[in-house]
Amino acid sequence: MDKQQLLKQYFGYDSFREGQEYLIDSILEGRDVLGIMPTGAGKSLCYQIPALLMAENENMSGEGTAAFREGGRGITLVVSPLISLMKDQVEGLRAAGIAACALNSVQTFEENARLRAECRAGRVKLLYMSPETLLAELSGFLQDIGISLIAVDEAHCVSQWGHDFRPEYTRLGVLRDVFPGVPVMALTATADKVTRRDILSQLRLSDDVKVFISSFDRPNLSLDVRRGLSGKDKLRAVTGFIADHAGQSGIVYCLARKTTEKLAAELRLAGIDAVPYHAGLSPEERDAAQTDFIRDRVQVVVATIAFGMGIDKSNVRWVIHYNLPKSIESFYQEIGRAGRDGLPADTLLLYNYSDIVQLTSFARESGQREINMERLDRMREYAESDVCRRRILLNYFGEKSDAVCGNCDVCHHPPQRFDGTVLARKALSAICRTGQQVTMRGTVDILRGVYSPAVIEHGYSQLKTFGVGRDVPGRDWQDYLLQMLQMGLFEIAYDEQNHLKMTSLGEDVVYGRRPLELAVIRREEPKPAKKGKKEQKAVPQLGLQVSGGAAVASDALFQRLRELRRRLADEQGFPPYIIMSDKVLRLLSAVRPRTVEEFGNISGIGEFKQRKYGRLFVDEIRDFLK
Ligand code: ADP
Ligand code: MG
Repeated sequence: MDKQQLLKQYFGYDSFREGQEYLIDSILEGRDVLGIMPTGAGKSLCYQIPALLMAENENMSGEGTAAFREGGRGITLVVSPLISLMKDQVEGLRAAGIAACALNSVQTFEENARLRAECRAGRVKLLYMSPETLLAELSGFLQDIGISLIAVDEAHCVSQWGHDFRPEYTRLGVLRDVFPGVPVMALTATADKVTRRDILSQLRLSDDVKVFISSFDRPNLSLDVRRGLSGKDKLRAVTGFIADHAGQSGIVYCLARKTTEKLAAELRLAGIDAVPYHAGLSPEERDAAQTDFIRDRVQVVVATIAFGMGIDKSNVRWVIHYNLPKSIESFYQEIGRAGRDGLPADTLLLYNYSDIVQLTSFARESGQREINMERLDRMREYAESDVCRRRILLNYFGEKSDAVCGNCDVCHHPPQRFDGTVLARKALSAICRTGQQVTMRGTVDILRGVYSPAVIEHGYSQLKTFGVGRDVPGRDWQDYLLQMLQMGLFEIAYDEQNHLKMTSLGEDVVYGRRPLELAVIRREEPKPAKKGKKEQKAVPQLGLQVSGGAAVASDALFQRLRELRRRLADEQGFPPYIIMSDKVLRLLSAVRPRTVEEFGNISGIGEFKQRKYGRLFVDEIRDFLK
């Protein structure tokens, strides 16, 4: 069988995606390869197909590929940083009828011994291992079974530069000595140059390594930022957003552990099925939260950034950032966990000034102060910008883009501007009159004429500007000040209790030498459910035409098939998305195959799944149509 046939038979897909063939062909020629593709691009297939080919060829005769002949009996070794990731991959492969297993430290000794025997007997095509286990097994077992290909997944873990640094990854270069001539495929979704260089050198990839870097655009992710919400407003925005995404899995990222607990409790009070997740929980609690989420038993995880790398769940439909992330890299990686199946997914970033204060102090206390401040600034600029958000992101990752995406809040509602000169002059003169010894909050108190402790302590109520901005709500002042900060009218002296210091540009404005435009504040509450619209958006993406009434019916069928999928998943102890992705369910509910054969023609259904599930799903569909 050739790679095309394997793709169809095992995975049920008709064509390769961008880059996949290139990486597959290169590794089959015996070359080292590095694939840099965003989350959800389909990196796993790039080593899974060669793994099948090599094992195939062995069964047929001695006519293997170059790589196979040099390598031995045809096991593909996959290095993966997390047990949960390995488990997910192995389950996914087995669900497609492919012999795969993982050796790790949580399985029993007997279990590991049994799996080793399977490998020795040549009954395993893909073997997953953590770097620790791998390094421990290097001398005996791995030599016996013969390795024809080594895939290093999440290869950015070699780099100290990134946030997922794993010391053991840096020792993987030794594979070159132990398995000379066995090609190595490194895969990651991290794009920056430093990380790339680290991967090439640490893994000792050969000089003629083939590199494939794909576009980082994820057009199916909508991007939305809402500024200036605090406290109750944030909570309302989150509950409203989740109400719009009823029954759909999603993640809310928070900065602090205690925020995750508090917010999860508040969401539960609001009737939303949510659990917290952070590194301070016991391993058992974390494991339970993760498993429940993966198996669709809990809808929402409210988490710190500790949650995520091990999550390959393809049907995460939305991600909310309850606080500003510390860098665009983290932000992009976190929202990237939504919509891996390629169906539309929504993201929302809530951003206010207190996030900046807190993140700034983190960055300043961190080891790499300069860099982290810089990263935070870029993140803030993203959140505050009036430019198409996707364009900013793509530019950030070095893909020059001047496109207008049509799927972000800026494109949906281009900002209006107004002459803000008078407002700005009021604010700036308030700052000046304190001798530039006031914080953002203090400035708002002065403008609003509030007798706050700071105002009383410093006698600010005597200032001429006290109360000149009473007509503007406090949170609007916060927003306008943020815009002025962003435009460079003043700076924050982080080393002087966050006092505001005017710049020369600010002087120009305050002395009337230059006018100033401010953006009209946009702080709409989440719009009422746009369900119907979503549905119609989703279906054409699959290349099908479904009109209004049919879309509703197909949604009802989708729910039934989803229930069936869940029953099957529970019976077999798999996560539902391993049995079938949301995308497949969408196709099934639109196409409505009435025979097992038609069922097998659905993209994403391989032969194994056709045989195993065809009858059940076809019966369910027929029953529905009655
Ligand atoms: P990554 O590791 O790059 O984040 P995965 O390997 O987990 O991505 O794949 C993401 C999803 O894309 C999976 O559901 C996978 O089955 C699907 N996929 C991969 N290749 C193809 C393809 N050629 N056609 C259709 N779907 C694909
Ligand atoms: Mg992956």
